[in-house]
Amino acid sequence: MNADCLRAAIRDVVDFPKPGIIFKDITPVLADAKLFRESIALLCATAGNVKIDKVVGIDARGFIFAAAVADRLDAGFVPIRKKGKLPWKTRQTAYSLEYGESIVELHEDAIRPGETVLLVDDLLATGGTAAAAVKLLDELGANLVGISVLIELEFLAGRAKLAPHRVISIITY
Ligand code: AMP
Repeated sequence: MNADCLRAAIRDVVDFPKPGIIFKDITPVLADAKLFRESIALLCATAGNVKIDKVVGIDARGFIFAAAVADRLDAGFVPIRKKGKLPWKTRQTAYSLEYGESIVELHEDAIRPGETVLLVDDLLATGGTAAAAVKLLDELGANLVGISVLIELEFLAGRAKLAPHRVISIITY
């Protein structure tokens, strides 16, 4: 099995959640035991030979992949959540969406300075969400080993916002 099998399973949903967006629906990948396992294996491989201390996932679909990757890599899992969901002291940062702004948060004690971190999300589009996550991780002094995404929409050039960090995508459009 390889990334082509995953690509074949990802479903395009036109005009969701609003007109003009082609939503990449990953639920068929999650629902198939072999495909889900393969997606996790491919994301784990993006860490290379580096021992990862913490896998960070982005609210909400990122959690699904990041938590499984963390378990497989024998690493801890850390959530970056939308504002108001984390109970302890947080660092937060605002970022632009297509319309308006959003805020994401990270517990301020979630990562110790110098810990090796792999940031995982389902999809990289404009890169705004991942860039906000990177800003929070930089503030905590994380050693960000890479940003791994299952899907990258290359035409939106999101990785330009993430330089000089290493971005690894499994499936590109
Ligand atoms: P962005 O900040 O533009 O890179 O958007 C990334 C986040 O929005 C990811 O966490 C995705 O879950 C979600 N997202 C953006 N565009 C799409 C799309 N076409 N299909 C599915 N999810 C998307």
